[in-house]
Amino acid sequence: MPRAPEGEETAMPRPERHERGPRTLAVHAGEPRPPIHGAVATPIFQSSTFLVEEGRGYHDIHYMRLSNTPSHVAVAAKLAALEGTERALVTGSGMAAITSALLAHLKQGDHVLAQRCLYGGTLDFLTENARQLGIETTFVPLDDPGAWQGALRPTTRVLYVESITNPLVEVGLLEEAAAFARAQGLVSLIDNTFPSPMNFRPAALGYDVVLHSATKYLNGHSDVVAGVACGSAARIEEIHKQVNILGGSLDSFSCYLLQRGLKTLPLRVRAQNENALALAKALARNPAVASVRYPGLPEDPSHAQARRHFAGFGAIIAFVPRGGLEAARRFCAALAIPLHAVSLGGVETLVCRPAATSHAGIPAAERRALGIPDERIRISVGIEDEADLIEDFERALAAA
Ligand code: PLP
Repeated sequence: MPRAPEGEETAMPRPERHERGPRTLAVHAGEPRPPIHGAVATPIFQSSTFLVEEGRGYHDIHYMRLSNTPSHVAVAAKLAALEGTERALVTGSGMAAITSALLAHLKQGDHVLAQRCLYGGTLDFLTENARQLGIETTFVPLDDPGAWQGALRPTTRVLYVESITNPLVEVGLLEEAAAFARAQGLVSLIDNTFPSPMNFRPAALGYDVVLHSATKYLNGHSDVVAGVACGSAARIEEIHKQVNILGGSLDSFSCYLLQRGLKTLPLRVRAQNENALALAKALARNPAVASVRYPGLPEDPSHAQARRHFAGFGAIIAFVPRGGLEAARRFCAALAIPLHAVSLGGVETLVCRPAATSHAGIPAAERRALGIPDERIRISVGIEDEADLIEDFERALAAA
C-alpha cells in the first residue's frame, strides 16, 4: 500500500471501543488518526489503482474494485463500529451486498428459509436467480416457529429475514429466529435497512451477517446508492471475495458521501423516529384513513416485538386511505411537502405506492394476498417540522 503521509496506521479496521456512544462513533469511528495531511474530513481517494511495492504479494494490491482504498477502509470501519461487528464491507448497492452475501453462503443444491414478504429485489433474486443456480427457497412467516421447523430440510443452510419488512412494516420473532438458526446450524442473514443501527443492532441478538441498503438511512441524503455487509472477519472475507469477482464495489466518491452522511445518522434517525410516531398517531385518528401500520403505535400487531428489541420505531409508515386507488392517487397528488418517489431513509419525506413501484413485479392477486393492495401508501418520514408534516397530510387527506 502506498504510504499516506499520516493516518494510515489507524485507518485500518480495528475493534472500536463499544462503550462509546453511537453519536461519538458516528463522528469519529474509522476516521484516520492522525488525520491524513491534517485533513479533518477524511479525503476522497479518487484513484482506481495504487503503487505496487516490490516484494509484496497479491493481497497487497490496492484497487478500487477490491474495496480496499483508504476511502473504503475508513467508511467500513465506521459502519462496523455502528453495527457492533468485527468487520464491515461497503458495496455498490444494497442489492450487491444482499446477493453477494447470499452467494457467499450458498451453493447448488442448498436451501434457504426466508421470511414471507421481503424487499422486491431480494424476493426476485431468491425466486428467480438463485433458483436458476439450483438454490431453493421456502418462504415462512416470521411469527410462527412451527413453520420454520416444518420447512427445514437437510440442505437448509441460510435463514434470511428483514428486521422490519418492506413494505408491510412488520416485525417478526427476531430473537427466536436468530436462536433457531444457531440451533440448526444455519447462517442467519438480516436486512437491517429500516431500523438502521440507531434503532436496532441485530448482531447483539446473534445474527451472523447484517445487511443494509446504505442508500437509505445510513447515507440519508438521497444522493448515493450503496450497500453494506457487517459481521465477523471470516464471514465478511467470504462476502468480499464474491464482491471482488462480481464487481459490486462502491466508488470512492460515494464512500466519502456515505461517510459524511453517517456522521449525522443518530441525529437524523432520532428526529425521524419522533416525526414518524407523531404522524402515525395523526393518521390513526383521521377518519379518512382505513388502516395504519407503524410498529410504534401501541395497537399495532408488531408493537410488542418492536418494543422488545428496538430503541426507536423507525420512520416507515404504511397506510390505506378510504376510497380506494383513486383516493390514494388524489392524496399523493395533493401533498405539498413530501415528494412522490421510491426509496426511503433520506432527510426529506417521500411517499409511494409499493404496488406500483417496489412490488410491481408481483402479480396483483398475490400482492393483495400478501397485504399489499394497490391503494396502500408507504411513507418514509423525513426530518422536517412535525407540525408542518401533520398539517400537510391532514390537508391532503381532506382533499382526497
Ligand atoms: N433492502 C431494502 C429493505 C430496501 O428497501 C432496498 C431498496 O429499496 C434494498 C434492500 C435494495 O437497496 P439498493 O436499492 O441500495 O440496492
